[in-house]
Amino acid sequence: MLILGIETTCDETAAAVVARDEGARSGRILSNVVRSQIEQHADYGGVVPEIAARAHIDLLDDIVAKALSDAGVKRSALHAIAVAGGPGLIGGVMVGVTYAKAMALALERPFIAVNHLEAHALTARLTDGVSFPYLLLLASGGHTQLVAVLDVGRYRRIGTTVDDALGEAFDKVAKMLGLAYPGGPEVERWAASGDPQRFTLPRPMMGRPEPDFSLAGLKTAVRLAAQKAEPLSDTDVSDLCASFQMAAMDIVVDRTRVGIKRFQEYTGNIPTALVIAGGVASNQALRRGLQKLADDSGTQMIAPPPELCTDNGAMIAWAGSERLLLGLHDGLDFASRPRWPLDAAAAAPGAKA
Ligand code: ATP
Ligand code: FE
Ligand code: MG
Repeated sequence: MLILGIETTCDETAAAVVARDEGARSGRILSNVVRSQIEQHADYGGVVPEIAARAHIDLLDDIVAKALSDAGVKRSALHAIAVAGGPGLIGGVMVGVTYAKAMALALERPFIAVNHLEAHALTARLTDGVSFPYLLLLASGGHTQLVAVLDVGRYRRIGTTVDDALGEAFDKVAKMLGLAYPGGPEVERWAASGDPQRFTLPRPMMGRPEPDFSLAGLKTAVRLAAQKAEPLSDTDVSDLCASFQMAAMDIVVDRTRVGIKRFQEYTGNIPTALVIAGGVASNQALRRGLQKLADDSGTQMIAPPPELCTDNGAMIAWAGSERLLLGLHDGLDFASRPRWPLDAAAAAPGAKA
């Protein structure tokens, strides 16, 4: 089957065509077109929702056309149209959802509204055919969660951040050090030549029995250390980046270790894999730390290639195929969702965001 996937929940306008052969455990990406709007948002140091929504309107038609032509697939050959129906910046989500509905209606094909987080969660099946149940560490600009992925549509969140997301912490640290946006790759680049031992930074939550995360205190500690070291030389910036990245990695590895323990208690098994997803998963220091943890824990680490860790249409198309194979698709009355937790239980009143 051939599925078109559309992604417009944040600042990437993306579309892809994915083929899923009958009985196949993984997919084939026929095209994967991602247009980042980073330049439009760079001056503001973050994504401006209204600018993003307008940019999606301008770009989406061309991106979809390119995804189809790169794949060598005619519209009429598509079996279904999948789109990220949330969570995300609502203006952008509505652009993608409306476009996908119109296409599904015109082509008389199923319309599938995919949870953006579910798409991140299932990407390791697209690339590596990972079998359930596995443990997902989702670390992006908006989310930092440990999720037990039990089956398509069955997720249990076992840990989350109580304040900043990991990518957000990287972005904020970059901003306070005067580095470019988005900050994650910049911090990693500067950290490469820095001394991670130079600044002593806190590692909030480390050693706690619940696999939750907290990053606000670490970020504030970087701010204070930077203020003390002012004016900052290039060496200072490198050392601050290296010290921050090391602290962040220590936190993530410790929290994920506890997450694997919780997963085992909950399912009775060690995870078939530790899957990492989200933009931060492209950080090499983090990958090394988690690889070692996976080895020590008797599981394998699966990290989709960086271009599939950040937002893209292929993951949406794949998640669409997973749902369609279970007979799941959506009505044209589907309403875009600014919030859409993966784990309904975790979304109960009083639960942490
Ligand atoms: P979400 O998917 O939660 O809605 P998002 O779209 O911002 O959020 P992604 O596009 O998956 O998330 O990831 C972007 C984030 O990843 C940014 O915060 C960016 O700084 C961070 N990031 C990207 N590359 C790296 C890296 N090499 N090291 C650390 N962080 C990184
Ligand atoms: Fe994302
Ligand atoms: Mg993004």
